[in-house]
Amino acid sequence: MLLLKNADIYTPSPTGRADVLVAGGRIVRIEPGISIPQTYCDVVEGTGFIAVPGFIDGHVHLMGGGGEGGYATRTPELLLSDAIRGGVTAVVGCLGTDGVTRSPAALLAKARGLEEEGLSTFIYTGHYAVPVQTLTGSIERDLLLIDKVIGVGEVALSDHRSTQPTFDEFARIGAEARRGGILSGKAGVVNVHMGDGRRGLSLLRRIIEDTEIPATQFVPTHINRNPTLFEEGIAWAKAGGFVDFTTSTVPAFLEDGEVKSSLGLRRMLEAGVDIAQISFTSDGQGSLPAFDAQGRLQRLEVGRVTSLLSEVRDAVLVEGIALETALKVITSNPARMLKLRGKGQLAAGADADLVLLEPETLDIHGVMAKGRWLMRDGELLARGTFE
Ligand code: ZN
Repeated sequence: MLLLKNADIYTPSPTGRADVLVAGGRIVRIEPGISIPQTYCDVVEGTGFIAVPGFIDGHVHLMGGGGEGGYATRTPELLLSDAIRGGVTAVVGCLGTDGVTRSPAALLAKARGLEEEGLSTFIYTGHYAVPVQTLTGSIERDLLLIDKVIGVGEVALSDHRSTQPTFDEFARIGAEARRGGILSGKAGVVNVHMGDGRRGLSLLRRIIEDTEIPATQFVPTHINRNPTLFEEGIAWAKAGGFVDFTTSTVPAFLEDGEVKSSLGLRRMLEAGVDIAQISFTSDGQGSLPAFDAQGRLQRLEVGRVTSLLSEVRDAVLVEGIALETALKVITSNPARMLKLRGKGQLAAGADADLVLLEPETLDIHGVMAKGRWLMRDGELLARGTFE
């Protein structure tokens, strides 16, 4: 058993000072004044720190991604320590542009490896391309037969790297994901990579208008990548759809018009979007390629899962958004949107995934995942097998 004493609890809603008792990887009780003899329990003093749910990163290239500048630019895999340093205790892995030298089978194996190392992991089947390349022959079969598969993605739209799917092709992906999700009790969402193309969200809007598939079956990501897409995203979210921001960025992208996630969150809330419709993901280990007007690669950087907390921190400390509001986009919101049971909340019965934050700086002081301390007093206690 583990006992965290006297932390300031955000479930993500603030509920005041309390102790958190953990046993068997789950939170057993959260209340003030829990007393257990030290011989039975590893006790950690949480006085002066904020305890929040472990962060969920719903779009991470666990296997690396990219290669848009040739083989030497294929980006590296996620290490366990990368996730711990970012307070990320649950990840959803995806493939990206390259579905030839990286396969869904390799992604599934990587996700299982990270699970063994201490994280909670899930994957999307498929990659940028349509038809969707699956593990078992169909999206429905993957959802029904493979526990870790929770949806499809990231399927690319409005992007020069997409396979330019038609209305019928894309509607069928949504339909198969929906049926597989319903039958398996999973979210069955389609994680949609949105590019810079001028068609924006138009295909998604048509599917909502012309079919019975609800908007919530799709999670368009990179919604902050340019001002036009961002404005479309506001309308999409106000109509009931989910929008996902990408937190990894580089100064050049922001100069080119990308909306910084922390600022974008404030602007969406001011525009009247319900916080429940918004999530942040890092695009961790993905390549961040910058192309010129002729589609030629100019620069390439790697996404970081640590950017998830950086943007939430800026949302609070720079944009003045309440911590309990900003936290939702990386805890309770993705847990609900992706139907990750036991995740994204501090509550009795939930998985014991939590992060201890310094109250002034929101820097990470401790990380617990599935009832095991992976970081304590700012020190890494766990590393991946080959780190
Ligand atoms: Zn993408």
